[in-house]
Amino acid sequence: MSARDYNAGSGHWVVLKYGGTSVADPENWAGIAEVLRARQSEGLRPVLVHSALSGVSDRLERLARLPDDLEREAIVGQIEERHAALLAGLGLESPPELTPRLQEVGRLANGLALTGEVSAPLEARLLALGELMASAIICAYLAQQGFDVLNPDARQVLTSRRTYTAHDPRRFLSAVCDSDFDDRLCADWAAHSGIIVTQGFIASDDRGRTVVLGRGGSDTSAAYFAARLRAERLEIWTDVPGMFSANPRIIPSARLLRQLSFDEAQEIAATGGKVLHPRCLAVARHSGTPVHVLETRRPHVEGTIVSAVGDTQGPRIKAISARQGLTLVSMESLGMWRESGFLAKVFRVFAELDLSIDLVSTSESVVTVTLDEPASVLEETVLEDLARRLESLCRVRILR
Ligand code: ADP
Ligand code: ASP
Ligand code: MG
Repeated sequence: MSARDYNAGSGHWVVLKYGGTSVADPENWAGIAEVLRARQSEGLRPVLVHSALSGVSDRLERLARLPDDLEREAIVGQIEERHAALLAGLGLESPPELTPRLQEVGRLANGLALTGEVSAPLEARLLALGELMASAIICAYLAQQGFDVLNPDARQVLTSRRTYTAHDPRRFLSAVCDSDFDDRLCADWAAHSGIIVTQGFIASDDRGRTVVLGRGGSDTSAAYFAARLRAERLEIWTDVPGMFSANPRIIPSARLLRQLSFDEAQEIAATGGKVLHPRCLAVARHSGTPVHVLETRRPHVEGTIVSAVGDTQGPRIKAISARQGLTLVSMESLGMWRESGFLAKVFRVFAELDLSIDLVSTSESVVTVTLDEPASVLEETVLEDLARRLESLCRVRILR
């Protein structure tokens, strides 16, 4: 097949995304290599998009919260150990790209501690190192297994849109990227005959600065790559065999859902399913890429297929989700009965503060909403401002 075929976006690409628990366990890698070979023998061109090793992004985030010296050193040590354990488990020497990235973690963390201040651009740079460190090991392993590996830096492919104002931290920490088909990218990557391995979660802005897509965002990165390549499908490889009717780790009797429409799967992801990043499916739906959710340890279990078709025969109620760490704003109006314009007035206050509302419930006298942004990211001053502005309209209660 020639580069011209790929250039036309003929759908010979398959994007495989492996999450943190999948990549961190050395036992998984022989199976992952086998899946990559199987895709090649199906005539597909695999693009592997991976996360940081599990626990690493959490620790990098903790470094950005300015721990004391002792804790900082302990965290940096734990990050090194996690990578060393994977290398040891795979029987590999440390690849040359790993050490400078590990050193950069220490350097950035020390720099933050010295200045006592963390900006969103610096936090994004620190978080991005998780995926970059993992990339070094993954490529070394796959090369040792005989794959011809091209390892582009995802930041040179995925660029974020200017969705937020210049100083909004979300611009760096919860970025949204372009997902248009990119024939140049197809041609460039098709010119390489082996496999492509690149990082999830990270991208760059229009000035080349590092941004990240929000925690859990590697799924969305993979959907962006699939859209830009017009991939035949996106495979999300994780630690459960698909999407279930409820989180199978909390409800062991939950049912595996074999087929879902984009709408149904989006509801599960958006209402706390966590199995997919909330933005992943909107991107896949827009580009028309079917998404298969599969288990890394048991690659032959069928998993879930999310597509435009869904399942018209199955049960009507597909799943129940639970979500934690929310901010709840409850607004009680004494005069809501037969009153007009109350919701318009209170919702305008949220818009003025650039607060995105997620769920809404309303009774005769109380309207309760949850906010999209995780409670940990919302600043206290914003919520105080919200309460102050709403007080002239209703009785307010904010629960974090
Ligand atoms: P990865 O590291 O592969 O991205 P995540 O931890 O982000 O994996 O997502 C997988 C987890 O999602 C599962 O281990 C499971 O606990 C959780 N989960 C929550 N709700 C669901 C659901 N409805 N179906 C499947 N998994 C779910
Ligand atoms: N490593 C990032 C995180 O833990 C992104 C991801 O895993 O999807 O949030
Ligand atoms: Mg995830």
